Amino acid sequence: MAAPERDPACLFCRIIAGEIPASKLLETDEAIVIADINPQAPVHVLAIPRRHIPSAAHLTAADAQTLAGVIDAANTVARERGITATGFRLVMNHGSDAGQTVDHLHVHLLGGRVLGWPPG
Ligand code: 5GP
Ligand code: ZN
Repeated sequence: MAAPERDPACLFCRIIAGEIPASKLLETDEAIVIADINPQAPVHVLAIPRRHIPSAAHLTAADAQTLAGVIDAANTVARERGITATGFRLVMNHGSDAGQTVDHLHVHLLGGRVLGWPPG
């Protein structure tokens, strides 16, 4: 079954709707990119699909266009912030072991410093 377009109780759905303020860096047909409220690197932004998809574990092949749009939005901001040449990391957390705290799919774009591997 297709994911619902919007969950009225969801933080990121409410940010997308403009009901909760956020620093919006890019808005496209498929996605928005916002500054993370608690940045873990000089560049730490979140690329978020407009459609409410709870996490990466809920993605199917039917979501290919949405996911491509999210990655494209993250890439655009990476270029704008000048970290494409130096490198960056894209992260999707799913579930409690990974520390997911917002149940609306989002891709963290982290860069602007050397990032440790493996992540904690
Ligand atoms: P997760 O832990 O689910 O992968 O990532 C959620 C991210 O959302 C965290 O990095 C957290 O700092 C960020 N975040 C939580 N609440 C807000 C908010 O109200 N505004 C913004 N811009 N980021 C938020
Ligand atoms: Zn949502």
